[in-house]
Amino acid sequence: MWVLLEGLVHTEVPKDLRDRVHVIDHPYAQAILTTLRDRRTGQIDFRKGLVRLGRVIGLEMVKYLDGEVVEVETPLGVKAKGFVIKDMDYVVIITVLRAAMPLVEGLVKIFPKARQGVVSARRIEEGVTNGRSFEIELNYIKIPRIKSEDTVIIADPMLATGSTMLAIIPKILEYGKPKRLFIASVISTEYGIRRVLSKYPEAHVFTVAIDPELNSRGYIVPGLGDAGDRAFGTLR
Ligand code: URA
Repeated sequence: MWVLLEGLVHTEVPKDLRDRVHVIDHPYAQAILTTLRDRRTGQIDFRKGLVRLGRVIGLEMVKYLDGEVVEVETPLGVKAKGFVIKDMDYVVIITVLRAAMPLVEGLVKIFPKARQGVVSARRIEEGVTNGRSFEIELNYIKIPRIKSEDTVIIADPMLATGSTMLAIIPKILEYGKPKRLFIASVISTEYGIRRVLSKYPEAHVFTVAIDPELNSRGYIVPGLGDAGDRAFGTLR
């Protein structure tokens, strides 16, 4: 199985980004991504796939939280060394409407105590021909107060040009400075990742693939199409 995955170009992370970009190359995640990419996958399976990937991404993120070694006593009256993840209780998940909704459904399974925020951001695509950056219209933002011990997870399945992230991160940070800033994405581009990390070098990007191109409309290629339309059945 792993041998089959070795040739997947989209799981490779450029060397200088390896400490901040985490591509989830687990076969389970890659198989779900393949279903999402497939144009024959219908709305329900697409949405379910995003939920499953939300869980997988959440599990990967847990590796980067702080924990400590503890000792518990088992029913046999014997001590066993174990581990608690202290930071699990201090998580804020931000849903970038609307495509992130199923992804967040999965993330919340891993972080059940998360406080949640919502951002409605629309790329103004009309008249754009180079697909490399967009004006972003922010229609709505509701974020809980962010505390210094929090890990903030911003969920948006497609990190394409980075324009949406660059527009919303400063708005989110107005609610407080977190301990960590994580981005949960399904497909990213190196271009988008570099744009975001050059402005927010403290951020970490968790993604299932880094695709090579953006088309003239700013869609990721090969990508999976419009994640929101496919998840919500609004494809024309
Ligand atoms: N948003 C999407 O849904 N798909 C892309 O390819 C880029 C942005």
